[in-house]
Amino acid sequence: MADRLSSGVTDAERTAELRANLAEVRARIDAAATAAGRDPAEITLIAITKTFPASDAAAMAGLGVTDLGENRDQEAGRKAAETSALLPPGVAAPRWHFVGQLQRNKARSVAAYADVVQSVDRPALVDALAAGARRAGRELDVLVQVSLDPPDSAGRAGVPPDDVVAVGDLVEAADGLRLAGVMAVAPLGGEPDPAFARLAEVADRLRAAHPGAGVISAGMSGDLESAIAHGASWVRVGTALFGRRGLLSDHVR
Ligand SMILES: *Cc1c(COP(=O)(O)O)cnc(C)c1O
Repeated sequence: MADRLSSGVTDAERTAELRANLAEVRARIDAAATAAGRDPAEITLIAITKTFPASDAAAMAGLGVTDLGENRDQEAGRKAAETSALLPPGVAAPRWHFVGQLQRNKARSVAAYADVVQSVDRPALVDALAAGARRAGRELDVLVQVSLDPPDSAGRAGVPPDDVVAVGDLVEAADGLRLAGVMAVAPLGGEPDPAFARLAEVADRLRAAHPGAGVISAGMSGDLESAIAHGASWVRVGTALFGRRGLLSDHVR
């Protein structure tokens, strides 16, 4: 792409870099799964493309990554469309995951391009997403985002662990949505192991109530080994695949 050239990196060089990064991340996933006595094939890698260009997303799909994720509606909608136009011949359309904090008034927009919404963190979003899915004539897979922060921290988004089953009930009952499981981000600056162990308990409770909701989305560039040790089935990786945000993206945006 022209902006890529102006930053001094050719498409071929960038693709080689992405291929090497991907091999490293896959090796980390395989090693973590093996160490936990799990089959690496049961873990899905979701490449988080936020701040990186559609050319990177398309290249990742061309390298065999089937799932891509974004965290801001405006960027995501545009990039999903641009990416499909750039896919190498014969490469299937990626599955798009929305992983960011979602405003109710963006639900309709997200439902039009996302296949999975991982960040349902309050009941009010359920109806809005369901309405958006029906309007778009689609069914969305939904994860309930679980807060792993201490109870009264002004921390991140997420449903308190004790309320997850109730929000899951709402999702399961909503026409247009399919409850798939839980998602979480480890507390900033905290130890990932106890947090992901707690997430596994919450996931067990949800699965007891909804046997089809077995997905655990946890683990990012810095803590995917811990997440896999605690049962993660989906890992969401940005930095380790694309590089640090804010370096490259300064040039291309
Ligand atoms: C950005 C982001 C990731 C990826 O984080 P990295 O540390 O760059 O791998 C994963 N999950 C969510 C919700 C994100 O916003």
